[in-house]
Amino acid sequence: MARYTGSVCRQCRREGLKLYLKGERCYTEKCAVDRRAYAPGQHGQRRRGKVSEYGLQLREKQKARRTYGVLESQFHKYFKEADRRKGITGENLLQILESRLDNVVYRMGFALSRPEARQLVKHGHFTVNGRKVDIPSYQVRPDDVVAVREASRDKGRFKDLAELMRTQGTMEWVNVDRENLAGKVLRLPTREEIDIPIAEHLIVELYSR
Ligand code: SF4
Repeated sequence: MARYTGSVCRQCRREGLKLYLKGERCYTEKCAVDRRAYAPGQHGQRRRGKVSEYGLQLREKQKARRTYGVLESQFHKYFKEADRRKGITGENLLQILESRLDNVVYRMGFALSRPEARQLVKHGHFTVNGRKVDIPSYQVRPDDVVAVREASRDKGRFKDLAELMRTQGTMEWVNVDRENLAGKVLRLPTREEIDIPIAEHLIVELYSR
């Protein structure tokens, strides 16, 4: 299955939720969810009937997939891994998604959105424990150190990053050294720390059908 290349704002409108896929624009009045609070397409403004249980489960899965930019097959693999691990499957699933390198780069404040983080990782601007990693789905573990590559620090995007990051907060499960453009993963995030309005138990129910 090919990666989605259409309008990302359309995805937010479909879910009726800000997925924050466009960085700064998401925080301005230009946000499409704020301007047109209905589903995209010809019938987007029609009143909807009762949504089936399956429909609700499907929407939650799509919301999670679109938030983290993961394809269906990969998402299903994550679910199987979450199910295999000890603990609550839904929480395990979110922790696996949060551990993706592109998400960690975003959470550390090195990018303004997950899609931007994904692109920066793919272009080889980051190292994990000193080694270049250009795979956005790479699973970062506690104690791993993620840093902007030495050779990338003087490049446009990263030149003023330390300054920009001063104004941003980061998550408690990562420790970021803004001056050196590096961050350490202290632990996996708890469910309360994952600020995404997803009912993960519905995703578990969907895959358990
Ligand atoms: Fe979604 Fe951001 Fe577009 Fe708003 S601006 S619809 S939050 S991607």
